[in-house]
Amino acid sequence: MYNSSFPHDVYCYECWWGDDWNPMTSGIDYEFSKLFFEQFQSLFKKVPVISLFSGGRQMNSDYCNYTANNKDCYLCFGGKDDERVLYAKNASFCKESMDIFSGDKLELCYENIECEGSFKLIFSKQCVNCSDSMFLYDCRNCLNCFGCTNLRNKSYCIWNEQYKREEYLEKIREFNLDKFENLQKFKLKFEDFYEKSIHKYANLINTQNSSGDNLLNTRNCNNCFDIFGTGSENCKYTHYVVLGVKDSYDNYGMPTAERVYETIAIGFESNENADYYFSNFIKGSNRIFYSYNCISSHDLFACVGLKNKSYCILNKQYTKEEYGALVPKIIKHMNDMPYIDSKGRIYKYGEFFPPELSPFCYNETIAQEYFPLTKEEALKQGYKWKEKEERNYQIDIKTENILLDIKEVDDSIINKVIECEHQGTCNEQCTEAFKIIPDELKFYQRMNLPIPHLCPNCRHYNRLKQRNPLKLWHRHCMKEGCENEFETSYAPERPEIVYCEKCYQQEVY
Ligand SMILES: [Zn+2]
Ligand SMILES: [Zn+2]
Ligand SMILES: [Zn+2]
Repeated sequence: MYNSSFPHDVYCYECWWGDDWNPMTSGIDYEFSKLFFEQFQSLFKKVPVISLFSGGRQMNSDYCNYTANNKDCYLCFGGKDDERVLYAKNASFCKESMDIFSGDKLELCYENIECEGSFKLIFSKQCVNCSDSMFLYDCRNCLNCFGCTNLRNKSYCIWNEQYKREEYLEKIREFNLDKFENLQKFKLKFEDFYEKSIHKYANLINTQNSSGDNLLNTRNCNNCFDIFGTGSENCKYTHYVVLGVKDSYDNYGMPTAERVYETIAIGFESNENADYYFSNFIKGSNRIFYSYNCISSHDLFACVGLKNKSYCILNKQYTKEEYGALVPKIIKHMNDMPYIDSKGRIYKYGEFFPPELSPFCYNETIAQEYFPLTKEEALKQGYKWKEKEERNYQIDIKTENILLDIKEVDDSIINKVIECEHQGTCNEQCTEAFKIIPDELKFYQRMNLPIPHLCPNCRHYNRLKQRNPLKLWHRHCMKEGCENEFETSYAPERPEIVYCEKCYQQEVY
């Protein structure tokens, strides 16, 4: 995940976990004459970082980041326990699926956004327990449906109209869905149909006193987004939870933990881990402050790359008593002598790391996905910017020459360099060209799907565009005569019909 200009040592999984190095040898004494963040930064420069952050054992999944227990996966980011999943973002417990954005328990699924518990579901959004279906939005327990919205417990429906089984199958055959141009045509029709359907103000399932979007089993979670699992409680400003988090504010990406504040990618699968503050990439630990990439530890302050350690400050070992005496002095020092960045922003104890000390450029992080900035804006705000890489690929197959029917495609396509239709002209981290990997070709053949025309990054951004932003607006129900108000991620100027819970239930069930 670190680009080639990152000036620190980056170790592979085996070396980082190996015994041939000791992060404690980089330890430094805390000096009250220097700024806290400067001292952290000089330690950070000395300690090797792990190339990719994975939560549990990964098998044959070398190109996955922030994932755990993945097997035979490729280009998956976030999520856990996936098997043979390709090009996915925040997919967990999925099997043999491709091009997923936020998915849970999916199998043989393709191009789904925010779907759950589904089988052979394609080009669909916010569906639960649907199978053998295509182009569905907000459907539950549907089987053999095509181009439908807001349906419950239905089979053999096309554009929300009921057909008899034979008629349905005949219609689907006539659609010739294995042809690229037909799929494109239906995609456009579905977009229109989607817009005219009824939209609940937020995708909240089994929630109490919660606001945000895509919340499952939450209680007292406000301004939260993409929370799954068995029950999160008392959280605010939290984005992406896989299993369940309690009493936490201002976090991104975690399986389970309690009392967490201002962190990225922390936690573990047990409830015993708690109290993480202002930290990145920490696993299975307790009482961790301002630390980076530490595992199975407790009581760490400003440490990097430690495993099974306790009572350390800047990678130096202290006794429990010494640690207990020194930490309050450091906190006071951070407040008395705060870090001031190039834009004049002040960082005392209680603030996350200053962005100018980040190992990543703004446009390399998911910040760019949800809060996109131009290079000028990013630099003006004090963020680093990564320049576009020179690629100069030798294209073997131009976009217009990609065979449109998967039945005509043979194994020779593997290792061919295929041009991305966007040719690097979009602002989507387009790689200009892409390849088809063997598992991917098998998937397309088995599912009778055409070869895509866009590189994986452009496909990801296309799905991202179909998601609502991580932002809430206070709005009124659009049903005539209804006075209800709510917090919604549908901006007021959007075309969708947005209903309150009550009106939605009346129409949809
Ligand atoms: Zn592209
Ligand atoms: Zn693009
Ligand atoms: Zn209403």
